[in-house]
Amino acid sequence: MLSINGLVIRSGLRVGVARRIKAQVWDVAPRRIDPAELEKEYQALNDALAHIEAEIDLHLQQFQGPDSDREILKSHLLILRDPELLKQVKSAVSDNLESAAQAVQRVFAGITRSFRNLPNDFFAQRASDYSDVGHRLLAALTGQEQEDLADWQPGQIAVLNEATPSQVSAFARHNIPAYCAQQGSFTSHASILTRSLNIPAVVALPGLYDKVQDGDALILDAIDGKVIIAPDQPTLLLYAELLEKYREQESQEQKLSSLPVQTAAGRQISLRCNLDLLTDLDQPARLGAAGIGLYRTEFLYLGKDELPPEDLQYQIYRQVAEKVAPHSVILRTFDLGGDKLSHLIPAAPEANPYLGCRGIRFSLAYPEIFRVQIRAVLRAGLHGRIQLMFPMVADLKDFLAAQKIVEDCRAELLAEGVECASELPLGVMIEIPSAALCAEELARHCDFMSIGTNDLVQYTLATDRNNSALTPYYVTHHPAVVQLLKTTLAAGRKYGKPVSICGEMASQPEYLPLLIGLGFTDLSVNPASFLPCKRIILRCDAALDDLCQNAGATCSLAALEELIYQKLKPYYHP
Ligand code: PEP
Ligand code: MG
Repeated sequence: MLSINGLVIRSGLRVGVARRIKAQVWDVAPRRIDPAELEKEYQALNDALAHIEAEIDLHLQQFQGPDSDREILKSHLLILRDPELLKQVKSAVSDNLESAAQAVQRVFAGITRSFRNLPNDFFAQRASDYSDVGHRLLAALTGQEQEDLADWQPGQIAVLNEATPSQVSAFARHNIPAYCAQQGSFTSHASILTRSLNIPAVVALPGLYDKVQDGDALILDAIDGKVIIAPDQPTLLLYAELLEKYREQESQEQKLSSLPVQTAAGRQISLRCNLDLLTDLDQPARLGAAGIGLYRTEFLYLGKDELPPEDLQYQIYRQVAEKVAPHSVILRTFDLGGDKLSHLIPAAPEANPYLGCRGIRFSLAYPEIFRVQIRAVLRAGLHGRIQLMFPMVADLKDFLAAQKIVEDCRAELLAEGVECASELPLGVMIEIPSAALCAEELARHCDFMSIGTNDLVQYTLATDRNNSALTPYYVTHHPAVVQLLKTTLAAGRKYGKPVSICGEMASQPEYLPLLIGLGFTDLSVNPASFLPCKRIILRCDAALDDLCQNAGATCSLAALEELIYQKLKPYYHP
């Protein structure tokens, strides 16, 4: 028996047998083509491109799955149509006299490698999209088959090196119950798709692929984030029990949607969804969420080859506001910089991008980009309940500078005779410790605050949130972080300003009872965590407040861990 720990992409519990999916190896003979064959190779390349485009177009037309899948297919079309990429492939054929297949293989391998090695996580995670498109082209050019899943047996769990978006969507089509992969990250396209397709998965499992044989018994524990290979009898028995409990829970969760979100003590909780991709826009209504607590607008840049113009942004924000009505959407202005520096923006490289021109600093440094967004939001504000929030605010001066731009843009629109919202609540994200410590001053001026725990933890503990080697230092429940949460909540209460939590901490079952016990009543979670979170909230009772009363800076990390992992466990793991 061997147990390997990894990262949960979508929660679930499955027991089955392993089936390895080999990384596709293409049989492309290296050879120098005769110049007389150039035309034939170009033709083969054009045919392959046309074939894949037609395949994706058809898939899009007949598409019935989640919208996020559609968006990813569209981004693959963009890769196929990328003129720069095509130029590289064509010149490899004409200048190096490589066959079209060889050229595609080499150019796509190179680009995948360079994306993977980029220090910018956002792009590095797009590497598998390029590899995916490269594989499709090679299948068309060589006439060789990609892995066929048609003979998949029920109970087989896919084991692979790294999943691509096409593979994930094929897993859903073939009812593959779960997968685990040696590599992967939470925010890759493949992972986003995994969550919208509800496929339990664990990735980032060191050495997995070589340690598993086809037919090995396998437990995929996408709750605790591990895979157990060839489990012994007692472990199998334990998981048989857990599985039964889990199935029961899953079926109860479906029934939860219609219940109001309130604790067992009768406290109303406003539970909203975070929205990254527009394509998840149906989720809040489907889940019965009280709106969208964080819309990360910078994702509009994903896979685009130009900055979104004002009209397009207006249409999109309007669509979101209308879709979420009668609830509101908290629309966060572009959080660019850090790991989300778009290739569309000519910013100078920075030695410490996370401590650099990021979030509102970036928007204030590039007013021509910021104003376009603000104008679009103000116009869309006429069509629904939009609240506007600024990321990475360090203190009041950042907020006031952003607020002034909103006012200027409103005056400008009115002077042009363009209708726009006369009132738009303005809020700040609390994700830098200085903002939490100055929360009273911020609360006096802004309309609401939302705590971004992903960054708040990173900046409080000086620990890069994307560096997996630092995981032991990235302690979300650190007393210093808990104290900043309490300080912010108290400031909001003092000035009557709502305080929500939209960072991942709110989506993590083990932290939810603590947050409710500390007095938070406004949470925004990722859609996949919505129902599990709701189930925990319904269990929270009056005794919880007493248990959590002393959590904070005055208590040690050990005491907090005892509280979370022992005393509060019955609330999230009964
Ligand atoms: C956060 O920092 O917690 C947050 C919600 O913002 P992001 O994850 O987009 O940085
Ligand atoms: Mg953040």
